[in-house]
Amino acid sequence: MTDAERENRRRLRAVVKKLQLVMPTLYPVEKVEFKPCEDAWGSTRVKQTKDPSAPPTFIISIHSEIDDVAKLFVLVHEYAHAAQWRVIHQENLREKDHDPEWGVCYAKVWELTLAFLEPEDE
Ligand SMILES: [Zn+2]
Repeated sequence: MTDAERENRRRLRAVVKKLQLVMPTLYPVEKVEFKPCEDAWGSTRVKQTKDPSAPPTFIISIHSEIDDVAKLFVLVHEYAHAAQWRVIHQENLREKDHDPEWGVCYAKVWELTLAFLEPEDE
């Protein structure tokens, strides 16, 4: 991994920390991970710990083999999923993943992300 890639990952994780404060999700985002993804550019999933009394968390995965700008788009897309996630029995009733409710979240996440994103070092 290059220094620039490492710095980009740090910037994106810093955005998520700020988003969590002003646009909280049903469960906290435990981790933003960067790894090769087979058939998608990213995903959001709920991680349930073995301890049933511990609250679930979100894990956001971003494809590690796409460029830094694409990673930013995927992060905003996936955070919007986390932000509109409902408890699972409601989630199962959702007609499609990218419904109007998601679209509203997506727009809001972009607005906040652009305000939070640190400028790149020259
Ligand atoms: Zn999606």
